[in-house]
Amino acid sequence: MSLLELRDVTAGYGAKLVISDVSLTLAAGEIVALLGHNGAGKTTTLKTIMGLLPARSGAVSLMDQDVSSLATPGRIKLGLRLLPEGRGIFPDLSVADNIEAVAAQNCKGGDLFGPAEVYQLLPVLDERRTTIAGTMSGGQQQMLALSLALLGRPHCLMLDEPSIGLAPNLVERMFDQLRSLSRSHGLGTLLVEQNVAAAMRVADRVIIMNSGKIVFSGTPDGARAAGVWHYF
Ligand code: ATP
Repeated sequence: MSLLELRDVTAGYGAKLVISDVSLTLAAGEIVALLGHNGAGKTTTLKTIMGLLPARSGAVSLMDQDVSSLATPGRIKLGLRLLPEGRGIFPDLSVADNIEAVAAQNCKGGDLFGPAEVYQLLPVLDERRTTIAGTMSGGQQQMLALSLALLGRPHCLMLDEPSIGLAPNLVERMFDQLRSLSRSHGLGTLLVEQNVAAAMRVADRVIIMNSGKIVFSGTPDGARAAGVWHYF
């Protein structure tokens, strides 16, 4: 079963078509890196999957269910999560209040991750429960953003450039954590990254976009062998 499948999806803004005929799949436990230069259409693809932008044609399925005409809240209920570029935390609230605010919305019982589980998984947040989120370091804020995306019962995580502003050792640590999360909980992760080297190290598969189209799909080793660097 695919957690996520796109078939020939076309989308854009107003009269402008930005992505065309995008097809991809994401399975449980898998990390797929979606790469390409600025403006290639990666964020537009994530927005279309999330239902924030309508697909003009083609189909989006979650857990083998066609969700093309389902609005964003319905997709979130099915376990789809987007960690947007620029974090999406409440900077004026404490860590605990951020987590409680989102848990109140997303946790309904029978959850994979409630507040207790995210504190256990990300001890850095447990130690900073009373800290105002906006005063923490970039890395800590990114961990908080990740914890908010996990609350409830996520199946499919989409992360838009989570490494921005983080020191290289923090990027490695966050990606290691992502990998063990994906493996241990069967999460599927679609990772949009400008940090191509780090993304290729953590990903099981790589998809490269150029001018709104998929130009490469395969393993990281396959991408290296194909010499795809001119796309970045
Ligand atoms: P980046 O790394 O810069 O975010 P990206 O691959 O995610 O790149 P998109 O953000 O999907 O690219 O943008 C693809 C194209 O769509 C760009 O030409 C951009 O100018 C255009 N675009 C993005 N958002 C909008 C919008 N709200 N209205 C109109 N055009 C947009």
